[in-house]
Amino acid sequence: QGRPLELEGEVVAGCGRGSSKMGVPTANIAPGPLAAKLEGLPLGVYFGWAQLDAAPGQPEEDSAVHKMAMNIGRRPSIEDGTDITVEVHILHSFAAADFRGQQLRVIVGGFIRPEMRFGSLDELIARIKADVGIAKAQLDLPEHQLCKAHEMFVR
Ligand code: ADP
Ligand code: MG
Repeated sequence: QGRPLELEGEVVAGCGRGSSKMGVPTANIAPGPLAAKLEGLPLGVYFGWAQLDAAPGQPEEDSAVHKMAMNIGRRPSIEDGTDITVEVHILHSFAAADFRGQQLRVIVGGFIRPEMRFGSLDELIARIKADVGIAKAQLDLPEHQLCKAHEMFVR
C-alpha cells in the first residue's frame, strides 16, 4: 500500500470549451511539471480532495479542503488528439469565480472509470453528473475522510 497520489500545480487556462457550459468548471493544472507522476497512470476520472492556495481577499472557505472529481485524459468526446490534461472540478462554490494563476493541490482517493468516448454531449454531461455523485458518496466514507487530513494540505 503506497502513499496516495498527490498532484500540485498552477491553475492554467484550459481550452475554454466545454466545462463551464456543461455546468462543471474544471480547474486545469499545468500538466508539464507533472509528466513523471502522470506516466503510466490510467486515463479517466478520479475522486479525491483539493485545496486552493489562500489568496488575499478570498474568503477562508475558498482555501479549505474540498471534495473534487478529476479527469486525467485526452477528452475524446470533445476534441481529438490533444495532450493529456488534468482537470479538477471542485465541489465548492467559490467566491472567486476565477482562480487561474493560483496553486492547487489534490490528493487522489480513487478511480471512478476509464476515459471513454461518448456519442453525444448530453451523454457525456449525464456521465459527468454521475461521476460527481460517485465522488461525493465515496469521499463520505471513513477511509476517504481520513485522507482529507493529509499532511500535504495546509491547515
Ligand atoms: P478552462 O477551459 O479555462 O479550464 P473552465 O470552463 O473549465 O475553463 O473553467 C475553469 C475555471 O473556473 C477554473 O480555472 C477556475 O478559475 C474557475 N472555477 C470556479 N469555480 C470552480 C470549481 N468549483 N471547480 C473548478 N474550477 C472552478
Ligand atoms: Mg477546465
